[in-house]
Amino acid sequence: MKNSKLVQHYYLGSGSIKNLEHLIFSKKNQDKDFVVFVIDHFFKNNLILSELPVNVNDLTLFADTTDEPRAEYIDDLVSIVKQKKQLPVAIIGIGGGSTLDIAKAISILLTNPGKAEEYQGWDLVKFSPVYKIGIPTIAGTGAEFTRTAVMTSKIKKLGINSDHSVYDQVIMDPDLLHTVPKDQFIYTAMDCFVHNVESLRGRQNDAMTIAFAQKSLEMMKDIFLGNMDLEKLMVASAMGGIAVANSNVGICHPLSYGLSLVLNLHHGYSICIAMNQLEEYYPEVQEFKEILRRNKIVLPKIINDDITDEMIDKMAEATLNNERPLENAFGPEWRSIFTKEKVIDLIRKM
Ligand code: NAD
Ligand code: ZN
Repeated sequence: MKNSKLVQHYYLGSGSIKNLEHLIFSKKNQDKDFVVFVIDHFFKNNLILSELPVNVNDLTLFADTTDEPRAEYIDDLVSIVKQKKQLPVAIIGIGGGSTLDIAKAISILLTNPGKAEEYQGWDLVKFSPVYKIGIPTIAGTGAEFTRTAVMTSKIKKLGINSDHSVYDQVIMDPDLLHTVPKDQFIYTAMDCFVHNVESLRGRQNDAMTIAFAQKSLEMMKDIFLGNMDLEKLMVASAMGGIAVANSNVGICHPLSYGLSLVLNLHHGYSICIAMNQLEEYYPEVQEFKEILRRNKIVLPKIINDDITDEMIDKMAEATLNNERPLENAFGPEWRSIFTKEKVIDLIRKM
């Protein structure tokens, strides 16, 4: 039986990022105390920086999110922080799922020995991490509320799944979402849609996760087929994150991991490519397609003549490595239902 941990404190609302100043102030007791900002590289030349309470002692790291987080990249950032020869009093992650996960992992690796990839898995973290604040700038992954810090190492995309990955404090300020490019906005939002569907249609949910996922899904439909409301979208993202983190993903995420690993595709995009072919498993795919249609998003056929049989085989293997999600979707006998042939058949349609 799981003993679920949730984010303890959060601010929600337009302008709520202003609370960062007093949160940091309350952590600094001595002159030498410093915080580490981990900020998505998009904001390097953006006004947000001048609004942040950055002090001379503080360290600002711009997370390059051109590719999704790699374990070695996280190790490099940890080494930079360690050059300060003192632990920061807080790590502040500002960005999308990639940056939020990088900041989570840094907070863990500063107090736990070894490299990031050694902690990919479940409950491998021993020592309490540095206090961390998560500030999402794009909505959908729910990373701000979950207990995983996703990263890719040589052969696997797997998170640091641990209570120590949960943010101590979250600030959800919808004003930070205004600059997200349209396509990216939809892809990441659809990640939330899919989290809810996979959680609801799986076997590892419970009354709590069902409640969160149902409400989040209802809000997503309302937002994308009715009235856009960024604050509500941030809430739906958080609730979808709570639902999926305490149940599991299903068929779409394993397929998307295979696509991302071999073709280096971003999470939200690969989720959309995979979900588009899953109508036989998830009736909600119809609404998903309607949302894409209304937002004028046309998904290309990505499995074309450039993709070799070997690449498809690697994608299928990477998909089938996701034992827990697939068991969630199909039950203990999942291997006899979701065969490699079936997976390859689905991938070829994408
Ligand atoms: P992202 O963090 O990868 O960012 C995508 C792009 O959006 C980047 O180019 C970034 O620069 C840009 N961007 C972000 N905010 C912006 C803003 N306000 N204005 C303009 N551009 C902005 O996107 P994502 O979809 O949020 O995150 C995907 C990552 O999250 C993947 O690595 C995935 O594995 C991970 N993930 C984690 C969890 C979790 O629970 N930890 C859950 C789902 C996905
Ligand atoms: Zn996801």
